[in-house]
Amino acid sequence: MTTPMTDSVLLHFIQTTDPDEIADLFQAARDLRELHYGKDVYVRGLIEFTSYCRNDCYYCGLRCSNHSAERYRLSVEEILNCCHHGERLGFHTFVLQGGEDPYFTDTILTEIITEIRRQFPNHAITLSIGERSFDSYARFFAAGADRYLLRHETANETHYGQLHPNNMSLKARKKCLMDLKEIGYQVGAGLMVGSPFQTAEHLLEDLHFLQELQPHMVGIGPFIPHVQTPFSTFGNGDLDLTFRMIALTRLLLPNALLPATTAVGTLSPKGREAALLAGANVVMPNLSPLGVRKKYALYDNKICTGDETAECLKCLQGRIERTGYSMNMGRGDYIHLPF
Ligand code: SF4
Repeated sequence: MTTPMTDSVLLHFIQTTDPDEIADLFQAARDLRELHYGKDVYVRGLIEFTSYCRNDCYYCGLRCSNHSAERYRLSVEEILNCCHHGERLGFHTFVLQGGEDPYFTDTILTEIITEIRRQFPNHAITLSIGERSFDSYARFFAAGADRYLLRHETANETHYGQLHPNNMSLKARKKCLMDLKEIGYQVGAGLMVGSPFQTAEHLLEDLHFLQELQPHMVGIGPFIPHVQTPFSTFGNGDLDLTFRMIALTRLLLPNALLPATTAVGTLSPKGREAALLAGANVVMPNLSPLGVRKKYALYDNKICTGDETAECLKCLQGRIERTGYSMNMGRGDYIHLPF
Protein backbone atom coordinates (compact mmCIF):
# COMPACT_ATOMS: atom_id res chain seq x y z
CA MET A 1 0.00 0.00 0.00
CA THR A 2 1.64 3.21 -1.15
CA THR A 3 -1.03 5.67 0.04
CA PRO A 4 0.48 8.27 2.42
CA MET A 5 -1.12 7.95 5.87
CA THR A 6 -2.65 11.43 6.12
CA ASP A 7 -5.38 12.11 8.69
CA SER A 8 -8.10 11.84 6.06
CA VAL A 9 -6.72 8.49 4.86
CA LEU A 10 -6.50 7.19 8.45
CA LEU A 11 -10.05 8.34 9.20
CA HIS A 12 -11.24 6.73 5.99
CA PHE A 13 -9.74 3.36 7.00
CA ILE A 14 -11.14 3.68 10.53
CA GLN A 15 -14.61 4.04 8.99
CA THR A 16 -14.52 1.96 5.81
CA THR A 17 -16.64 -1.15 5.31
CA ASP A 18 -15.39 -1.83 1.77
CA PRO A 19 -14.14 -5.46 1.78
CA ASP A 20 -11.54 -4.86 -0.97
CA GLU A 21 -10.05 -1.88 0.84
CA ILE A 22 -9.95 -3.81 4.10
CA ALA A 23 -8.29 -6.80 2.40
CA ASP A 24 -5.61 -4.48 0.96
CA LEU A 25 -5.09 -2.86 4.38
CA PHE A 26 -4.60 -6.23 6.10
CA GLN A 27 -2.26 -7.44 3.33
CA ALA A 28 -0.11 -4.31 3.72
CA ALA A 29 -0.01 -4.85 7.50
CA ARG A 30 1.02 -8.50 7.06
CA ASP A 31 3.72 -7.56 4.54
CA LEU A 32 5.25 -5.14 7.05
CA ARG A 33 5.17 -7.51 10.03
CA GLU A 34 6.76 -10.23 7.87
CA LEU A 35 9.43 -7.81 6.66
CA HIS A 36 10.50 -7.15 10.26
CA TYR A 37 9.55 -10.31 12.18
CA GLY A 38 9.13 -12.97 9.49
CA LYS A 39 6.44 -15.54 10.22
CA ASP A 40 7.10 -15.66 13.97
CA VAL A 41 4.40 -15.16 16.58
CA TYR A 42 5.91 -14.55 20.03
CA VAL A 43 4.50 -16.07 23.20
CA ARG A 44 4.28 -14.31 26.58
CA GLY A 45 3.31 -16.07 29.80
CA LEU A 46 0.79 -13.99 31.73
CA ILE A 47 0.86 -14.19 35.54
CA GLU A 48 -2.11 -12.31 37.02
CA PHE A 49 -0.77 -11.98 40.54
CA THR A 50 -3.27 -9.67 42.25
CA SER A 51 -6.90 -8.82 41.57
CA TYR A 52 -6.96 -6.03 44.17
CA CYS A 53 -7.05 -2.51 42.75
CA ARG A 54 -7.30 0.91 44.37
CA ASN A 55 -8.68 2.47 41.18
CA ASP A 56 -12.24 2.72 39.98
CA CYS A 57 -12.07 2.75 36.17
CA TYR A 58 -15.67 2.69 34.95
CA TYR A 59 -15.10 -0.14 32.44
CA CYS A 60 -13.22 -2.64 34.61
CA GLY A 61 -14.50 -5.57 36.65
CA LEU A 62 -11.60 -5.22 39.11
CA ARG A 63 -12.57 -1.64 40.05
CA CYS A 64 -12.57 -1.03 43.78
CA SER A 65 -16.32 -0.27 43.81
CA ASN A 66 -17.10 -3.80 42.60
CA HIS A 67 -17.71 -5.38 46.00
CA SER A 68 -18.81 -8.68 44.49
CA ALA A 69 -15.40 -9.27 42.85
CA GLU A 70 -13.49 -12.14 44.45
CA ARG A 71 -10.06 -10.80 45.33
CA TYR A 72 -6.80 -12.73 45.57
CA ARG A 73 -3.07 -12.17 45.79
CA LEU A 74 -0.43 -14.72 44.81
CA SER A 75 2.41 -15.27 47.26
CA VAL A 76 6.02 -14.86 46.14
CA GLU A 77 6.30 -18.64 46.13
CA GLU A 78 3.20 -18.99 43.95
CA ILE A 79 4.53 -16.39 41.49
CA LEU A 80 7.86 -18.22 41.28
CA ASN A 81 6.02 -21.52 40.79
CA CYS A 82 4.20 -19.97 37.81
CA CYS A 83 7.59 -18.92 36.36
CA HIS A 84 9.03 -22.43 36.84
CA HIS A 85 5.97 -23.97 35.22
CA GLY A 86 6.36 -21.51 32.34
CA GLU A 87 10.04 -22.30 31.97
CA ARG A 88 9.30 -26.03 31.72
CA LEU A 89 6.83 -25.25 28.91
CA GLY A 90 9.47 -23.19 27.07
CA PHE A 91 8.33 -19.63 27.84
CA HIS A 92 10.98 -16.89 27.79
CA THR A 93 8.82 -13.95 28.83
CA PHE A 94 6.90 -13.59 32.08
CA VAL A 95 4.31 -10.82 32.29
CA LEU A 96 3.46 -9.88 35.88
CA GLN A 97 0.07 -8.22 35.69
CA GLY A 98 -2.17 -6.92 38.44
CA GLY A 99 -4.41 -4.14 39.63
CA GLU A 100 -2.88 -1.16 41.44
CA ASP A 101 -2.59 -3.01 44.73
CA PRO A 102 -1.00 -1.01 47.60
CA TYR A 103 -0.04 -4.28 49.33
CA PHE A 104 2.68 -4.71 46.70
CA THR A 105 4.96 -1.90 47.84
CA ASP A 106 8.09 -0.98 45.89
CA THR A 107 10.14 -3.01 48.36
CA ILE A 108 8.04 -6.17 47.97
CA LEU A 109 7.93 -5.86 44.18
CA THR A 110 11.65 -5.20 43.95
CA GLU A 111 12.30 -8.36 45.96
CA ILE A 112 10.05 -10.38 43.65
CA ILE A 113 11.66 -9.00 40.49
CA THR A 114 15.16 -9.54 41.89
CA GLU A 115 14.36 -13.16 42.70
CA ILE A 116 12.82 -13.86 39.29
CA ARG A 117 15.85 -12.25 37.61
CA ARG A 118 18.21 -14.35 39.78
CA GLN A 119 16.45 -17.61 38.96
CA PHE A 120 15.70 -16.79 35.30
CA PRO A 121 18.64 -14.71 34.02
CA ASN A 122 17.74 -15.20 30.35
CA HIS A 123 14.02 -14.50 30.54
CA ALA A 124 12.29 -11.20 29.84
CA ILE A 125 10.34 -9.77 32.79
CA THR A 126 7.40 -7.59 31.82
CA LEU A 127 5.43 -5.59 34.38
CA SER A 128 1.85 -4.45 33.99
CA ILE A 129 0.96 -2.90 37.34
CA GLY A 130 -0.29 0.56 36.51
CA GLU A 131 0.84 4.03 37.48
CA ARG A 132 3.86 4.48 39.79
CA SER A 133 6.47 7.18 40.33
CA PHE A 134 9.59 7.60 38.19
CA ASP A 135 11.67 6.35 41.12
CA SER A 136 9.56 3.19 41.54
CA TYR A 137 9.83 2.39 37.84
CA ALA A 138 13.60 2.99 38.00
CA ARG A 139 13.92 0.64 41.00
CA PHE A 140 12.06 -2.15 39.22
CA PHE A 141 14.20 -1.65 36.11
CA ALA A 142 17.40 -1.82 38.15
CA ALA A 143 16.12 -5.02 39.77
CA GLY A 144 15.80 -6.67 36.36
CA ALA A 145 12.44 -5.78 34.78
CA ASP A 146 12.81 -5.24 31.01
CA ARG A 147 9.39 -4.27 29.72
CA TYR A 148 6.30 -2.43 30.96
CA LEU A 149 2.73 -2.49 29.66
CA LEU A 150 0.51 0.49 30.48
CA ARG A 151 -2.46 1.04 28.19
CA HIS A 152 -3.35 4.69 27.72
CA GLU A 153 -6.96 3.53 26.86
CA THR A 154 -7.78 6.76 24.99
CA ALA A 155 -5.62 9.71 24.00
CA ASN A 156 -8.47 12.21 24.18
CA GLU A 157 -8.64 14.17 27.44
CA THR A 158 -12.44 14.51 27.54
CA HIS A 159 -12.97 10.88 26.60
CA TYR A 160 -10.45 9.80 29.26
CA GLY A 161 -12.56 11.71 31.79
CA GLN A 162 -15.67 9.82 30.64
CA LEU A 163 -13.97 6.46 31.31
CA HIS A 164 -12.25 7.27 34.60
CA PRO A 165 -13.04 9.00 37.90
CA ASN A 166 -11.70 12.50 38.63
CA ASN A 167 -8.64 11.33 40.53
CA MET A 168 -7.21 9.79 37.33
CA SER A 169 -5.92 11.81 34.38
CA LEU A 170 -4.61 11.27 30.90
CA LYS A 171 -1.78 13.66 31.76
CA ALA A 172 -0.61 11.37 34.59
CA ARG A 173 -0.93 8.29 32.35
CA LYS A 174 1.12 9.92 29.58
CA LYS A 175 3.78 11.03 32.06
CA CYS A 176 4.16 7.43 33.26
CA LEU A 177 4.62 6.25 29.67
CA MET A 178 7.25 8.92 29.02
CA ASP A 179 9.04 8.06 32.30
CA LEU A 180 9.12 4.37 31.38
CA LYS A 181 10.65 5.16 27.99
CA GLU A 182 13.23 7.48 29.54
CA ILE A 183 14.29 4.80 32.02
CA GLY A 184 14.89 2.35 29.18
CA TYR A 185 12.02 -0.11 29.34
CA GLN A 186 10.50 -1.63 26.23
CA VAL A 187 7.16 0.12 26.63
CA GLY A 188 3.66 -0.97 25.69
CA ALA A 189 0.76 1.45 25.32
CA GLY A 190 -2.70 0.43 24.19
CA LEU A 191 -6.36 1.19 23.80
CA MET A 192 -9.88 -0.16 23.89
CA VAL A 193 -11.84 -0.06 20.66
CA GLY A 194 -15.55 0.70 21.01
CA SER A 195 -15.41 2.00 24.57
CA PRO A 196 -18.46 4.11 25.57
CA PHE A 197 -18.59 7.58 23.95
CA GLN A 198 -15.67 6.81 21.59
CA THR A 199 -15.71 8.43 18.14
CA ALA A 200 -13.66 7.85 14.97
CA GLU A 201 -11.83 11.11 15.76
CA HIS A 202 -10.81 9.73 19.15
CA LEU A 203 -9.26 6.72 17.41
CA LEU A 204 -7.39 9.09 15.09
CA GLU A 205 -6.03 10.82 18.21
CA ASP A 206 -4.93 7.42 19.51
CA LEU A 207 -2.96 6.85 16.31
CA HIS A 208 -1.38 10.32 16.61
CA PHE A 209 -0.41 9.60 20.21
CA LEU A 210 1.15 6.26 19.25
CA GLN A 211 3.17 7.99 16.54
CA GLU A 212 4.38 10.54 19.08
CA LEU A 213 5.19 8.03 21.84
CA GLN A 214 6.71 5.37 19.52
CA PRO A 215 5.99 2.51 21.95
CA HIS A 216 7.58 -0.88 21.43
CA MET A 217 4.29 -2.71 22.03
CA VAL A 218 0.65 -1.76 21.54
CA GLY A 219 -2.25 -3.73 23.03
CA ILE A 220 -5.46 -3.16 21.08
CA GLY A 221 -8.61 -4.96 22.14
CA PRO A 222 -12.36 -4.44 21.90
CA PHE A 223 -14.33 -3.01 24.81
CA ILE A 224 -16.30 -5.78 26.50
CA PRO A 225 -18.69 -4.77 29.29
CA HIS A 226 -18.53 -6.20 32.79
CA VAL A 227 -21.84 -6.66 34.55
CA GLN A 228 -20.70 -5.02 37.81
CA THR A 229 -19.64 -1.70 36.25
CA PRO A 230 -21.42 1.52 35.27
CA PHE A 231 -20.93 0.47 31.62
CA SER A 232 -22.72 -2.87 31.99
CA THR A 233 -25.46 -1.92 29.50
CA PHE A 234 -23.10 -0.79 26.71
CA GLY A 235 -22.49 -3.15 23.77
CA ASN A 236 -19.26 -4.88 22.81
CA GLY A 237 -16.69 -2.98 20.76
CA ASP A 238 -16.71 -3.61 17.00
CA LEU A 239 -14.33 -6.47 16.25
CA ASP A 240 -13.78 -5.52 12.60
CA LEU A 241 -12.84 -2.00 13.67
CA THR A 242 -10.43 -3.53 16.22
CA PHE A 243 -8.70 -5.44 13.40
CA ARG A 244 -8.50 -2.28 11.27
CA MET A 245 -6.92 -0.42 14.20
CA ILE A 246 -4.35 -3.21 14.60
CA ALA A 247 -3.53 -2.99 10.88
CA LEU A 248 -3.27 0.83 10.94
CA THR A 249 -1.01 0.65 13.98
CA ARG A 250 1.20 -1.84 12.12
CA LEU A 251 1.46 0.58 9.18
CA LEU A 252 2.40 3.49 11.46
CA LEU A 253 4.73 1.48 13.76
CA PRO A 254 6.08 -1.24 11.44
CA ASN A 255 8.27 -2.98 14.02
CA ALA A 256 5.89 -2.85 16.98
CA LEU A 257 4.96 -5.99 18.89
CA LEU A 258 1.18 -6.25 18.67
CA PRO A 259 -0.75 -8.91 20.62
CA ALA A 260 -3.74 -10.84 19.35
CA THR A 261 -5.54 -10.27 22.66
CA THR A 262 -7.69 -12.62 24.69
CA ALA A 263 -10.49 -10.06 24.30
CA VAL A 264 -10.65 -10.56 20.50
CA GLY A 265 -10.77 -14.33 21.13
CA THR A 266 -13.60 -13.77 23.62
CA LEU A 267 -15.76 -11.99 21.04
CA SER A 268 -15.11 -14.44 18.21
CA PRO A 269 -13.84 -18.05 18.15
CA LYS A 270 -11.46 -17.09 15.32
CA GLY A 271 -10.72 -13.61 16.68
CA ARG A 272 -7.06 -14.21 17.47
CA GLU A 273 -6.41 -15.72 14.03
CA ALA A 274 -8.07 -12.68 12.42
CA ALA A 275 -5.91 -10.35 14.53
CA LEU A 276 -2.75 -12.18 13.40
CA LEU A 277 -3.90 -11.78 9.80
CA ALA A 278 -4.37 -8.04 10.41
CA GLY A 279 -0.76 -7.56 11.55
CA ALA A 280 -0.56 -8.82 15.15
CA ASN A 281 2.47 -10.95 16.12
CA VAL A 282 2.19 -11.81 19.84
CA VAL A 283 -0.03 -14.09 21.93
CA MET A 284 -0.28 -14.10 25.74
CA PRO A 285 -1.47 -17.39 27.22
CA ASN A 286 -2.22 -17.53 30.93
CA LEU A 287 0.32 -18.95 33.38
CA SER A 288 -1.71 -18.03 36.49
CA PRO A 289 -2.85 -20.90 38.74
CA LEU A 290 -6.13 -22.38 37.45
CA GLY A 291 -7.86 -21.70 40.78
CA VAL A 292 -7.61 -17.90 40.45
CA ARG A 293 -8.12 -17.30 36.74
CA LYS A 294 -11.87 -16.70 36.81
CA LYS A 295 -11.36 -14.14 39.58
CA TYR A 296 -9.22 -11.94 37.32
CA ALA A 297 -12.32 -10.74 35.47
CA LEU A 298 -11.65 -7.42 33.76
CA TYR A 299 -14.71 -8.10 31.54
CA ASP A 300 -17.40 -10.77 31.25
CA ASN A 301 -17.03 -14.25 29.66
CA LYS A 302 -13.22 -14.15 29.32
CA ILE A 303 -11.95 -17.28 27.53
CA CYS A 304 -9.14 -19.70 28.49
CA THR A 305 -9.82 -19.47 32.24
CA GLY A 306 -10.35 -23.22 32.68
CA ASP A 307 -7.59 -24.78 30.59
CA GLU A 308 -4.14 -25.95 31.67
CA THR A 309 -1.42 -23.73 30.17
CA ALA A 310 0.03 -26.68 28.25
CA GLU A 311 -3.39 -27.23 26.62
CA CYS A 312 -3.69 -23.51 25.82
CA LEU A 313 -0.26 -23.57 24.20
CA LYS A 314 -1.18 -26.54 22.02
CA CYS A 315 -4.44 -24.87 21.03
CA LEU A 316 -2.65 -21.59 20.24
CA GLN A 317 0.04 -23.36 18.23
CA GLY A 318 -2.65 -24.93 16.04
CA ARG A 319 -4.40 -21.61 15.58
CA ILE A 320 -1.13 -19.85 14.69
CA GLU A 321 -0.05 -22.54 12.23
CA ARG A 322 -3.43 -22.53 10.50
CA THR A 323 -2.86 -18.82 9.71
CA GLY A 324 0.48 -19.70 8.05
CA TYR A 325 2.62 -18.41 10.94
CA SER A 326 4.76 -20.24 13.48
CA MET A 327 4.94 -20.05 17.26
CA ASN A 328 8.23 -18.70 18.61
CA MET A 329 8.94 -19.35 22.32
CA GLY A 330 12.03 -17.08 22.42
CA ARG A 331 12.17 -13.70 24.20
CA GLY A 332 10.90 -11.91 21.10
CA ASP A 333 12.46 -8.55 21.87
CA TYR A 334 11.59 -5.42 19.95
CA ILE A 335 13.65 -5.03 16.77
CA HIS A 336 15.03 -1.53 16.27
CA LEU A 337 15.02 -0.31 12.69
CA PRO A 338 18.50 0.47 11.33
CA PHE A 339 17.57 4.12 10.63
S1 SF4 B 1 -8.31 -1.01 34.53
FE1 SF4 B 1 -6.52 -1.47 35.84
S2 SF4 B 1 -6.34 0.36 37.14
FE2 SF4 B 1 -8.42 0.42 36.29
S3 SF4 B 1 -9.69 -0.63 37.84
FE3 SF4 B 1 -9.05 -2.19 36.34
S4 SF4 B 1 -7.21 -3.13 37.18
FE4 SF4 B 1 -7.57 -1.18 38.28
